Amino acid sequence: MPESYDLVVVGTGFASSFFLKRYLENAPSNQKVLVLERGEMLPYLDRLKAKQGTGNIDPRKAGSTYQTDSDKIWVFDPNFGGSSNCWTGCTPRFLPNDFELRSKYGVGQDWPISYDDIGEYYEEAEQIMSIAGPGTTPFPKSNGYPLPPHALSTVDKLLQEKYQELYISQPTARASQAVGSRGNCCSSSVCDLCPVNAKFTIENGLGQLYDDDRVTLKYNAQAIGLETANDTAKSITYVENGVTQKAFGETFVLGANGVFNSHILLNSGDTNPLTGAGICEQIGVFARLYYKGLSNVGGGSIITANGYMMYDGEHRKDHAACIIESFNTPFIRNEVGKWRDMSIFKFIFEDIPQNSNKVTLSGDERIPNIAYESYSDYVQKGMDQLPSLIDQYFGFLPVEKVEIDGYAQKTEFHICSTTRMGNTSEDSVIDANLVHHQFRNVIVSGSSVYPSITPANPTLTLSALSLRAANRYFG
Ligand SMILES: Cc1cc2nc3c(=O)[nH]c(=O)nc-3n(C[C@H](O)[C@H](O)[C@H](O)COP(=O)(O)OP(=O)(O)OC[C@H]3O[C@@H](n4cnc5c(N)ncnc54)[C@H](O)[C@@H]3O)c2cc1C
Ligand code: SF4
Repeated sequence: MPESYDLVVVGTGFASSFFLKRYLENAPSNQKVLVLERGEMLPYLDRLKAKQGTGNIDPRKAGSTYQTDSDKIWVFDPNFGGSSNCWTGCTPRFLPNDFELRSKYGVGQDWPISYDDIGEYYEEAEQIMSIAGPGTTPFPKSNGYPLPPHALSTVDKLLQEKYQELYISQPTARASQAVGSRGNCCSSSVCDLCPVNAKFTIENGLGQLYDDDRVTLKYNAQAIGLETANDTAKSITYVENGVTQKAFGETFVLGANGVFNSHILLNSGDTNPLTGAGICEQIGVFARLYYKGLSNVGGGSIITANGYMMYDGEHRKDHAACIIESFNTPFIRNEVGKWRDMSIFKFIFEDIPQNSNKVTLSGDERIPNIAYESYSDYVQKGMDQLPSLIDQYFGFLPVEKVEIDGYAQKTEFHICSTTRMGNTSEDSVIDANLVHHQFRNVIVSGSSVYPSITPANPTLTLSALSLRAANRYFG
């Protein structure tokens, strides 16, 4: 006979873990929680040994978990902690206008919540991750960041002097001081596996949740679909070590990321045409600026600063917003006497979800199909502006030449918008509290819920939304 649980959680990444944290804080001691994790526990130290060539773990790669005919890649870590293992830890908030793209600029879709609705949860998520960040930000913020900001480089300082709160030390989960078991970031720039454990991961920050007596965590257990009756999910089917199993539950939380949240819903008979539709992410382009007599040195982390000069404004009626990242990965200019007379910036553009890009079922219930044609014209128009925008905003520096990559990066590592949130099932899959419009005991969490994606990194916001969803659902 299948077991019954009060709560069934799918996944152990940010979306699931932030929800679980809040749930366990408030739940009575007799509650039973089942967590299904499709991958394995690959501890940080074992990953590190493998990278150093002294260990032999072989993590499953994202590419083996889905099928596609497109050249576009979707990158994530399908193991305990999800992509917290390999993320870079950039954690800007969204701007208030990001939640009102349609009302303000007539494009895309508004969110059913405002910036103010998640303000307190942003604060909490920043505390939990011990974010390092500056005193002044382009988004409203009532308290300072838990850790001091990383140092800016020489060129960053000039840009900050000119653009003030529109050019800031990047808010980041790469610790600027040792905190807990995390060392302080020393700018070694291999953040996909930080050698000093400086960035927040689920393992080093929330791993203890899974030791709670109320929680049963199953590894190698891939959730397939929910069985529903009368618009309520009754049980979940999963494949554990090759064997099909079932568990009953009162409430189900899907935190399986933008590919798998929608796949599980499609496998559950969700017939909303928006389920799976709109898969997208930001589009990034690198540019190198070479200076005459300006040496760019210093800077405290892999990405030192965020620029907001091309982000919000009337231009969003016509073309995509862009956030700027100032890169501090080791680089030199290959010219004698000018070794450091350059900067590397990444210009990252928001996209608008398009329903023709979508996650669909394949012949195999364990493998979703991703049909992806291209990003929208809105992004292309933004990228077309880049040469003149660089001229406009960086022209006050002694720029000798600019090289802009003629191609977009293959991925920004953010999978968004396959289970969008909104007011009704006509415009979305889930409601403002992340509850499925039809299955009212199913909560869907992660960047799959974003109706518009903004140019900023998604993880701080999705973590804040998970905390909020647990509060709203369980009161
Ligand atoms: C290289 C890289 C760099 C990044 N850098 C940044 C950054 O700097 N800033 C930022 O904001 N974001 C960054 N991201 C994105 C960030 O990692 C994601 O936004 C975040 O991890 C999403 O959290 P999640 O919990 O929704 O999904 P995931 O982290 O993907 O976790 C999903 C979890 O669900 C499990 N799972 C999936 N399907 C099933 C199933 N069917 N059954 C059971 N378990 C399942 C997975 O194994 C995993 O544990 C980066 C990502 C990558 C890959
Ligand atoms: S820059 Fe280096 S020290 Fe800092 S988080 Fe990345 S890998 Fe770790």
